[in-house]
Amino acid sequence: MSSDRLVPHLAGLGTTIFAEMSALAVSTGAINLGQGFPDVDGPPSVAEAAISAIRAGLGNQYPPGPGVPVLRQAIAAHQERWYGQTLDPDTDVLVTAGATEAIAAAMLAFVDEGDEVIALEPFYDSYRATITMARGSCVPVRLDPPTFRLDEVRLRAAVTDRTKVILLNSPHNPTGAVLNRDELDAVARVAIEHDLLVVTDEVYEHLAFDEPHIPISKLPGMAERTISISSAGKTFSFTGWKIGWVTGPPEYVAAVRTTKQFLTFVSGGPFQFAVAHALENEMPWVEGLRESMADRRDLLSDGLTQLGLTTYRPRGTYFVTTDVRSIGWEDALAFCRALPERAAVVAVPCSVFYEDPGPAERALVRWTFSKQEQVLGDALARLASANLSPTA
Ligand code: PMP
Ligand code: GLN
Repeated sequence: MSSDRLVPHLAGLGTTIFAEMSALAVSTGAINLGQGFPDVDGPPSVAEAAISAIRAGLGNQYPPGPGVPVLRQAIAAHQERWYGQTLDPDTDVLVTAGATEAIAAAMLAFVDEGDEVIALEPFYDSYRATITMARGSCVPVRLDPPTFRLDEVRLRAAVTDRTKVILLNSPHNPTGAVLNRDELDAVARVAIEHDLLVVTDEVYEHLAFDEPHIPISKLPGMAERTISISSAGKTFSFTGWKIGWVTGPPEYVAAVRTTKQFLTFVSGGPFQFAVAHALENEMPWVEGLRESMADRRDLLSDGLTQLGLTTYRPRGTYFVTTDVRSIGWEDALAFCRALPERAAVVAVPCSVFYEDPGPAERALVRWTFSKQEQVLGDALARLASANLSPTA
């Protein structure tokens, strides 16, 4: 079918950069520091739990629409244990096909034609895409290097009488920023003053390295207007399983369930049982992952700095951002396209995370450190011995 059949308002979406860069890594044999996924699977007991579930016939047929009860209970227990939140697993929790479906279902549920959604820019690519699918518009609020802190004045300036939702993400992909209490207080003030919903993507909730992750739903007056999204992919290093979840007030969870049921209806039956096992038994493993990921954050950030790149050390996530102007490049896309051939390494240009990138944003490159130390070391060695001159 020719692509001109795609409805015009979606024509600009193109192919996700992650798929493009992973395909480039495979076709060139380069080390993939582009798409964020770990190169070591999560806890063996969790993999075994999935295999046992299949063998025992658990989840091999359609699971219940909201998710299997044992997983919804485990998610509620996790929120209680980590954040002191009491949720009813039957009304306040919904299992989704990864955080990706949760984001899409939330945008389809809450955003109408012409509504505005404020999102922190640079933003994860599915935000603008799903807002567009809902025929809303995405209003960016910039986070700028070197700290990528959220400025309340900018946030307030983005609010109009069409604003419906603030779409937050903390820890933040791609910058690695972690919103602190002051920044979250500012979001809460604005949301309450303007009666806005907050949809918060917290898939990296257990990958904040230097300060604790604070869920915005914990702030006074926020639980009743916040839809929180998370996922097992990043927490347990099973990104291919696509088990995510939504928590929040019953009426909003029900609204997301309404759209979700006509997207996938249900997914990942046996994996839902395995993730319940993970949430109940493998949080100590997650603690170890966080520590090791913090070490790898340092390894890659220090290595990139030594190569002469201006490096913005992240406070969370899988990702570190650099500015390639410090080694003579203007255009990160050209840099990333040259990198596999020059150094057999793949990284992602950050321009794709901006609506209207200027020269400064077009020079940013995102690298993932969600790989084994040895792989990161090899990638740094390749970069160190490569000719990275823009005129080579
Ligand atoms: N949100 C953010 C910020 C992400 O980085 C990702 C990708 N890992 C997702 C959502 C998607 O999560 P999932 O794989 O659970 O769909
Ligand atoms: N979240 C991952 C990243 O930012 C990729 C997920 C995807 O490819 N959709 O790299």
